[in-house]
Amino acid sequence: MGALDIAGLQDGFRGELLRPEDPDYEDARRVWNGSISRFPALIARCAGVADVISAVRFAKDTGLLVAVRGGGHSYPGLSVCDGGIVIDLSLMKGIRVDPEALTVRAQAGVLLGELDRETQAFGLAVPSGIVTHTGLSGLTLGGGINWLQRKYGLTIDQLLSVDLITAEGEFVKASASENPDLFWGVRGGGGNFGIVTEFEFRLNPVGPTVLAGPIFWPIEEAPNVLRFYREWISETPDELMTIVTNRKAPPLAFVPRELHGKLVVGVACCYAGPLEEGEKVVKPLKEFGSPVLDVCVSKPYLAHQAMFDPSFPHGRWYYIRGCDVAQLTDEVIDITVDHALRINSPFSALTLWQRGGAVARVGEDETAFGGRSAGHTYNITGATEGSEGFDEEQQWVRNFWSALEPYHTSFYVNFLMEEGEERIRRAYGAKKYDRLKALKRRYDPDNLFRLNQNIGPTATA
Ligand SMILES: Cc1cc2nc3c(=O)[nH]c(=O)nc-3n(C[C@H](O)[C@H](O)[C@H](O)COP(=O)(O)OP(=O)(O)OC[C@H]3O[C@@H](n4cnc5c(N)ncnc54)[C@H](O)[C@@H]3O)c2cc1C
Repeated sequence: MGALDIAGLQDGFRGELLRPEDPDYEDARRVWNGSISRFPALIARCAGVADVISAVRFAKDTGLLVAVRGGGHSYPGLSVCDGGIVIDLSLMKGIRVDPEALTVRAQAGVLLGELDRETQAFGLAVPSGIVTHTGLSGLTLGGGINWLQRKYGLTIDQLLSVDLITAEGEFVKASASENPDLFWGVRGGGGNFGIVTEFEFRLNPVGPTVLAGPIFWPIEEAPNVLRFYREWISETPDELMTIVTNRKAPPLAFVPRELHGKLVVGVACCYAGPLEEGEKVVKPLKEFGSPVLDVCVSKPYLAHQAMFDPSFPHGRWYYIRGCDVAQLTDEVIDITVDHALRINSPFSALTLWQRGGAVARVGEDETAFGGRSAGHTYNITGATEGSEGFDEEQQWVRNFWSALEPYHTSFYVNFLMEEGEERIRRAYGAKKYDRLKALKRRYDPDNLFRLNQNIGPTATA
């Protein structure tokens, strides 16, 4: 195959067009998950909306396979492809806070930490994810579970409008009053309907100081800790959000040396309300059993948002499975502990999210996002430095997930690998899936945007 002719795209393009022979190509084709290595024919790093329109039209005219990249954190690596074009939005970093209207506009290449930095300058925040280098785009389009969700809801619950480029290369806006069907679909339906170039969110007051951080116990105490945890969270207020973790204690500065590499169970908290009240709320947890480490303290919200960053660096090999369950029954707890005890890699971890609160107060059909009423979300991550041991970690993840199968209620699309259409259908539920397909037929009938948790245009038989 000869070199790709990009003359039609080059004219006036403000960003960068990278082909395999360009020095920056190698870095630009890499995504967060090191186990994914693909070689696109062209990476179009767009500087603005006009570049995105040109890139979409070029892709349509040439018939190239299209991948769209926000922050590059898709677990299965859906933002890069072999032989096609990557429409890369990472140069589009504009953020503008309006502290009077309590809104913020953010372009599609913004990362979570960049958005937090701008909004926290005003004591405000958009609830987003828990690792600062995750892309705002992909996270938002799938829903966005976060440290503030019980108080304020999902990231999409703050979304006021989007600017989007359709598969025809046309600019449209979507909000509650303009193209409301499309607005419904982008709140959970991923990148299926077009490329979002800019998001507008409502802002909420947060911190800047929160009571937050993890408390750890030895893994042997996990059965009791998790049973206590289940009862305790049934009475805690929505200001409190918690995440349970099971992993080998990492060799970080705040972890005592004797704990490094030991299996632990942790409950990480974030209390987004008055600190004195937070102290009272977390006291019973802090006093339960014999914690080996308690770093749940007052700290800047920005610091808390970065807490998990060292645990999920770029370039490691990652494999995940996710599922929602209704409750932490005794059976679910026993399965969880059993599989936590089998953790081998120092980088593998279970992250078990509390749900409910404001997330569940939005109706299941109000947005495309599926599983509003779930009690907890599992993210089971197997990770290694490279290929060595990766098969074993994948097997651990699959075994753990399969053991929970009788208790699965729903699936979060952003926590799916490439698992096939039936899983995607279950993530939305049959009724919403059909509605999403109808929307797909309207906005992308030829499935130009198919490298995502794909909602194909053809009706389900
Ligand atoms: C370390 C880590 C931490 C995470 N933490 C959380 C968390 O706290 N909460 C949570 O909810 N999720 C979390 N996730 C999951 C995360 O939401 C998804 O991986 C998400 O897809 C990442 O978005 P991105 O823009 O970085 O990804 P990308 O890989 O760039 O894109 C992901 C998908 O979205 C599409 N896409 C990206 N941008 C656009 C756009 N502007 N328009 C149209 N389509 C687009 C891509 O084509 C691709 O299909 C985490 C993931 C990782 C790797």
